[in-house]
Amino acid sequence: MTYPNTQLFINGQWQDAADGRSLAVFNPATGKEIGRVAQASKADLDKALEAARKGFEVWRDMVPVERAKIMRKAAALIRERAAEIAPLLTQEQGKPLVEAKGETLAAADMIEWYADEGQRVYGRLVPSRFKPEMRQMVVKDPVGPVAAFTPWNFPINQVVRKVGPALAAGCSMLVKAAEETPAGPAAFIKAFADAGLPPGVLGLVYGNPAEISGYLIPHPVIRKVTFTGSTPVGKQLAALAGQHMKRVTMELGGHAPVIVCEDADIQLAVKSAGAAKFRNAGQVCISPTRFLVHESIKNEFAQALAKYAQGLKVGDGLAEGTQMGPLANPRRVTAMAELHEDAVKKGATVLTGGKRIGDAGNFWEPTVLVDVPLEARVFNDEPFGPVAGIRSFTDLNDAIQEANRLSFGLAGYAFTKSLKNADLLTRRIEVGMLWMNMPAMPNAEMPFGGIKDSGYGSEGGPESLEAYLNVRSVAIMNV
Ligand code: NAD
Repeated sequence: MTYPNTQLFINGQWQDAADGRSLAVFNPATGKEIGRVAQASKADLDKALEAARKGFEVWRDMVPVERAKIMRKAAALIRERAAEIAPLLTQEQGKPLVEAKGETLAAADMIEWYADEGQRVYGRLVPSRFKPEMRQMVVKDPVGPVAAFTPWNFPINQVVRKVGPALAAGCSMLVKAAEETPAGPAAFIKAFADAGLPPGVLGLVYGNPAEISGYLIPHPVIRKVTFTGSTPVGKQLAALAGQHMKRVTMELGGHAPVIVCEDADIQLAVKSAGAAKFRNAGQVCISPTRFLVHESIKNEFAQALAKYAQGLKVGDGLAEGTQMGPLANPRRVTAMAELHEDAVKKGATVLTGGKRIGDAGNFWEPTVLVDVPLEARVFNDEPFGPVAGIRSFTDLNDAIQEANRLSFGLAGYAFTKSLKNADLLTRRIEVGMLWMNMPAMPNAEMPFGGIKDSGYGSEGGPESLEAYLNVRSVAIMNV
């Protein structure tokens, strides 16, 4: 299985860093170096910014129907190449091949949806309160060149959620994708280049994240910042953007509650929440993390979830039948070990898992903890790994209070057959996305994003285009 070195993509050209520097890329299933990624310096960033400025002028002035044609062609190329792109994601990030392929194909679907949606950016004509010959128009224009920062957990999905709406709105975008997973985003962006995207409309750089964001965010060429990653980093970047009055979208961490009511279909809850929990080894911002289960069914649910976890085939994502791959980097294994030790010390019971698997690669057992004390770190810090913590409740209002206790407000899940419970949960749970009686099923047409410390702005639905548009008022008196 081959894995390429990744270059920077600047002004329509693939290129090494000006000073030749590069970083190593590792396969999390083996711990071995598999390739290199170019590390941009300021000279590269200056070139990329100038290209984004010029690219914006070209793209902004292209009619939406022409932009849509290029986007659709890129989507078709991504779909055509999915079988070659997926193993790149698996090698650099660890996820099972089937998930990598699904991520790639979903990106093609999203680009198509945005290609269509970009043709529906309408303004308004507003009747004047003064004179009939006064025309008042509300016009929407692309904000300009955007700086996008994306993480390693979904190397392509995190990029498409930014590139799709930005291109559809007529913006250019300079993407700083994660250095740990560079080849997936490069293959994704190559499809746009091959589809005829004008130079400079999309750029791709890698390097030192803090140096790059510190340079791009204040830069006058950049008009908007979008970031997906942890809450602490998001707060830093949003503060910097605020100092320079740049618009921002922040898609940050979560700690999703799963409320399983007395009347829930337990098998459905285990299957749905279990699949969502261990998908991508739990390294998902909307991953279910705090299971709040009615006391009367807690034991049955906990045993069934533990059985589900024990049945998962963990291994190299390239191997046939693997259902859960390694964690993406050694930092996550350390984090899992620390969270586990802390939870056990504070009184949680281990139903299954809790240990590293082998000594090569970053494998961690699918883990289920029960009776987790509220003060355990795993019930407070985002776990971002394959661990499910369970607690019981007797009154639904208490479960809702616990769900809302943390500063996060990204995703939430609930299982109930009662309309009354469903209504209460809909109104009271403080999350940006709530899924009931089902696993998470995010898609292009629905808003994706959080509230509270999980960030602001949407990366889906028509709302995501608004984030890349300026609204202006124009009035003309027909003299
Ligand atoms: P981290 O906070 O160091 O980094 C998270 C992401 O932000 C990475 O992609 C990193 O390259 C980027 N980043 C870090 N500092 C930056 C800066 N100054 N400027 C620009 N980008 C910067 O954490 P990590 O160890 O890579 O990941 C672990 C934590 O990150 C998880 O616990 C989770 O909370 C969060 N995370 C969230 C998502 C998500 O989908 N929301 C994705 C990946 C990671």
